Amino acid sequence: MTTPTRPIPIVDLRGAYKYHYTDELETAAVNNVDVRIEPGEFVAVMGPSGSGKSTLLNLIGMIDDLSKGEYRFHGQEVTRLGRRARARLRKGNIGFIFQSFNLIDELTAAENIELPLLYLDQPRAARKAKVATALAELEMTHRANHYPRQLSGGQQQRIAIARAIVIEPKLILADEPTGNLDSENSALVMQQLNRLHRRGSTIVMVTHSPEDAAQAERVIELFDGQVLVREREYLAQ
Ligand code: ADP
Repeated sequence: MTTPTRPIPIVDLRGAYKYHYTDELETAAVNNVDVRIEPGEFVAVMGPSGSGKSTLLNLIGMIDDLSKGEYRFHGQEVTRLGRRARARLRKGNIGFIFQSFNLIDELTAAENIELPLLYLDQPRAARKAKVATALAELEMTHRANHYPRQLSGGQQQRIAIARAIVIEPKLILADEPTGNLDSENSALVMQQLNRLHRRGSTIVMVTHSPEDAAQAERVIELFDGQVLVREREYLAQ
């Protein structure tokens, strides 16, 4: 009898530490954290301000280095990669969504969405086709040539989601994606994230909103840089 092969986790973080230093103060912003995220999961990260949520997301997103510990991204050892190789891995596989959208004001919606494809040196025809698909996916085709300032906050966030998914990432990281939106636009953004999840995307979302977190499949709760509740283990008890 053969045992079924388990899928390779998208995120496999073990014994992860991240220290920040200010003057003589050392803060373990992430303090011995294990996080495993399977393909297709939708995970929320919660915790009070200063508990390490952004730091954890930056480690998962390869924006920051671990101070100590191991990180495998879809089977690949991130901690052993040099800076350029790690940047390449990130740019090809991770889509980011931020609280403040982070669109470039001087570029149109379509040009903003195209940027990650330019970084990946994709040919023009492929870029245009992918941008059109992402715009359609977010129902923003009619705003393709608008500049960010001509769009509402909710629309800007939809463009930012389109920019995150245009590379067909293995992982979508969202840092308080509804933090700057009213309730109506928040609901729309959450609808989009849910839709991406149903289509198979793997999503990690930092949020302060219990309503948004309730839409994820599980919650990783941080306190003082440590994981407070690991729902699966909790449920398994
Ligand atoms: P959260 O996202 O939950 O608010 P953070 O990850 O931003 O928490 O911060 C966790 C801890 O690390 C806090 O004590 C914060 O002050 C500290 N910290 C975060 N970033 C830095 C930094 N660049 N330099 C020094 N300390 C930092």
